[in-house]
Amino acid sequence: MGLQFPEEETPGIDYIIPNVDYLEKKKQNIAAIVLTHGHYDHIGALPHVLARLGNPPIYATSITKAIIEKRADDFPNAPKMNIQLVKNGDEMKLSNNITALFFGVPHTIPETTGVMLKTPIGNIVHFADFRLDYDDEGNPHGLEEFEKLGKMGVHTFMVDSTAAERPGHSVSEKTVEKNLEEIFRAAEGRIAVATFSSLITRIAEIIKIAEKLGRKVALNGYSMKTNIQIAQGLGFVKAKEGTLISVEEINNYKDDKVMILTTGAQGESNAGLMKIINGEHRSIKIKPGDTFVLSSSVIPGNERSVQTVKDNLARQGAVVYHSGLVDIHSSGHAPKGDIGLVIKLLKPKFLMPVHGYYFMRAANGQTARESGVLKDNVRLMDNGQVAELTKDEFKITKEEVPAYYVMVDGLGVGDVEEVVLRDRRALAAEGMLVIILTVDRDKGRLLKNPDIISRGFIYLKDNQEILDEIRKRIRGLMTRIPNFKEVEPDYVKTLLRDQVGQYLYTKTKRRPMILPVVIEI
Ligand SMILES: [Zn+2]
Repeated sequence: MGLQFPEEETPGIDYIIPNVDYLEKKKQNIAAIVLTHGHYDHIGALPHVLARLGNPPIYATSITKAIIEKRADDFPNAPKMNIQLVKNGDEMKLSNNITALFFGVPHTIPETTGVMLKTPIGNIVHFADFRLDYDDEGNPHGLEEFEKLGKMGVHTFMVDSTAAERPGHSVSEKTVEKNLEEIFRAAEGRIAVATFSSLITRIAEIIKIAEKLGRKVALNGYSMKTNIQIAQGLGFVKAKEGTLISVEEINNYKDDKVMILTTGAQGESNAGLMKIINGEHRSIKIKPGDTFVLSSSVIPGNERSVQTVKDNLARQGAVVYHSGLVDIHSSGHAPKGDIGLVIKLLKPKFLMPVHGYYFMRAANGQTARESGVLKDNVRLMDNGQVAELTKDEFKITKEEVPAYYVMVDGLGVGDVEEVVLRDRRALAAEGMLVIILTVDRDKGRLLKNPDIISRGFIYLKDNQEILDEIRKRIRGLMTRIPNFKEVEPDYVKTLLRDQVGQYLYTKTKRRPMILPVVIEI
């Protein structure tokens, strides 16, 4: 039900959603959609796929419900959702022979829920995204609940692999808060904290610390404002009357009485922080004495943009803190040590690592073996594979179902295909050349010198010789077409593309995209 953000190989794509062709064909068998938490990689595809799945009932906790309802506002054509509100601890009958037991797992957004599906062949446990929380003495809490699940018997445990390679245990959110408070106390001017707007648990704590230090909090960025509004409405963020101010109001307060919470810690080009850095923000201008705290990990692939953010902040005189310096971020995903602990409590017969790349899932398999799961009972599966489960077996079949990406680009879903992406990659790497021919239709001859426009290829003004040669070749080519009227226009275009393309390649070793335009008069 989630969406994935674009990768380097999918330029210009807004996001990627799962292919549900297989599920659509079996929609009469779908009893429920169970949402574990409100992060977009778990709920974002919902409005795109719901109708195709036959609009089954959705099970969700209150904040997840509020978030999907908010998102539904942007999709007026999606069906009205039938949402069953659940609380951790609830047990719900999903179908004749399957019930779901919901239980809380610590993550970075409130009310994240794991689920135990009680089925005739055994109990399947899915832990959503999770980590463990530690108290001041460094002891994990909430483990009794997991032990209870283990006692009920676990056929298969599906476990989050996002941080499976990282050794050790989760950094306690308490440590993060303590470190943040120290930085905040030391700051003499304004404080700006950049973090993910989805880290609602952290944001709630930061607002508490700000109140303790007598600072007003201004929220910057659309998703920051809407997420906090939702969380506040449900009581997960408890700001006192007057704590939250608008960004326009910050200049009414002394610098040491202000804190800004903003999106954009990954250097995302359209997020709140970027506007501040580029001097495009209406109310917030960076000045020496500002303290900027980047409280998030750097998502692989974003390293360069984050460096640029830090650089820009430092150049404008701000003091910058990031999680590479101090523990001011704790991942929402359990590292190896935490996963091992949970596996030992659940004692599953089979283990199926989910989320993350294959190498991460494989690392989880290793952790499982070290934690008592039989070597042969780790099941590493890929998207599109099908498994059949019986009381004693978990068999991966030879069947494969479509599981490739469906790309969402602007308002279009799935209309961006590999061809389009290939063009975008070619354009990005080699540039383009447009050739415009104005041709007398009857006589089949050029009425004027061909116009040539290039972008991202070579600067034509400085390459007059190439330009002349292209024109010469086009003229030559046109004289070799005797009956222009009878010739397919596409044939002329293909000839042009081939001939000009070949010439440019020998001359420049580059293959720009060539777009011939033939205007017949
Ligand atoms: Zn999550």
